[in-house]
Amino acid sequence: MESGDGLIVRLRTTRGVASTAQIRLLAGAAHRFGNGIIELTRRGNLQLRGITPGTLPDLQAELCRAGLAEASREAERPASLLVCPLSGLDPRCPPLERVADGLEEVLSSLIAPRLSDKFVVCLSGGSDLLERVSADVRITLRHEHPGLAELAVAGDRRERELRLGQCRVGSLPLVLHALLQQVLEQTPGQRLRVRDAVRARGESSLRAALAPLLEMPARGGRAEEMAGTGTPPWRARCVGFNSGVSSWLGLVLPFGSGLSDDWSAIAELAERFGSGEVRLTPARAVLIVGVGAADRERGAAFAEARGFGVRQQPPRLELIACSGAPACRSAQGETRRLASSLGAIVGAGIRSGSTLHVSGCEKGCAWGGPADITLVHAADGYRLGFGTDVAQTSETAPLSLDSVRARVARSFGAPPP
Ligand code: SF4
Repeated sequence: MESGDGLIVRLRTTRGVASTAQIRLLAGAAHRFGNGIIELTRRGNLQLRGITPGTLPDLQAELCRAGLAEASREAERPASLLVCPLSGLDPRCPPLERVADGLEEVLSSLIAPRLSDKFVVCLSGGSDLLERVSADVRITLRHEHPGLAELAVAGDRRERELRLGQCRVGSLPLVLHALLQQVLEQTPGQRLRVRDAVRARGESSLRAALAPLLEMPARGGRAEEMAGTGTPPWRARCVGFNSGVSSWLGLVLPFGSGLSDDWSAIAELAERFGSGEVRLTPARAVLIVGVGAADRERGAAFAEARGFGVRQQPPRLELIACSGAPACRSAQGETRRLASSLGAIVGAGIRSGSTLHVSGCEKGCAWGGPADITLVHAADGYRLGFGTDVAQTSETAPLSLDSVRARVARSFGAPPP
């Protein structure tokens, strides 16, 4: 994919798990073939930035040797399965690995090459960790309902999910296969996402086709029709030291991005204090698996000295920003310091869990959806939107930075005493 700082090369690690050897290799490759930046994506994958057409073939060869890429597009796994990275760590998450094996088999089957590159199936253990991922298919297992899986698909509009019902966990591969066939029948010749098929076919027709395979089909998707759907997701613990089935140290990468040296430090940390396994999350955090209680303080000090966050912050306002200037040639301005300074203006007037997105240009690489506050750099000033995405925000009138600050403070600043 092309961006203002060159090509972006996305990798698909095996279910979001990377070894320290792979991370060291990526750190070296990012430095030699790109601009040294490695980002954690919103889907818990890694991407290298600043690759040039001249360096791409050597990079691809190196990634293939390390098992991080396939030699051809046809051989690449075409659809991704995003499995909750807390499976096997947090006892609140049911074990997901065997379920994931069955789903992956379906996704690698004959029908998969027609799926869009963006197609994603989320397999959740009931936490809030994968909630922000815009999934084509969402499958949720919960400890409270052993043997059952909840099934939902992307609705016809963004941010809207269509609940299909529950099925036996053992039937999931069959149900997923049937669902994908329904999708494929609707839009021949396209690289598919579920949303397109729901639009083309209609919700009720899709429900009716799948109902015979479900234990408890949801009629119209109302929450009360499926046991468990009223259950709020449990809060995932991704930051700091945690113990459960195993123990882990979670590190937050500022803006989900790090340079080669940062990633080498992550590998060193995992080797010195953990088991050598690193899990990637869609929440801009990496989990260093196997850090024992005896090493928690030393591991945390090592991470903090290198600028990683290890303290849980209250989830009030999430700051999102692309690389911006000077890293990206398309950028009309700096993004990350600006996001932090605007975030400091925002006070008690914003609800917890809000997002502030600063984009260096109209492309909006860092975040595709609406944010509570969106700021876009443009050649003639700043564009500001509340509850809008980058495209909608770009259509507003240009403002000075002082006006932006004043409007943000007026809308979301602390109320007067
Ligand atoms: S959104 Fe940001 S990273 Fe993407 S092209 Fe624009 S300035 Fe570059």
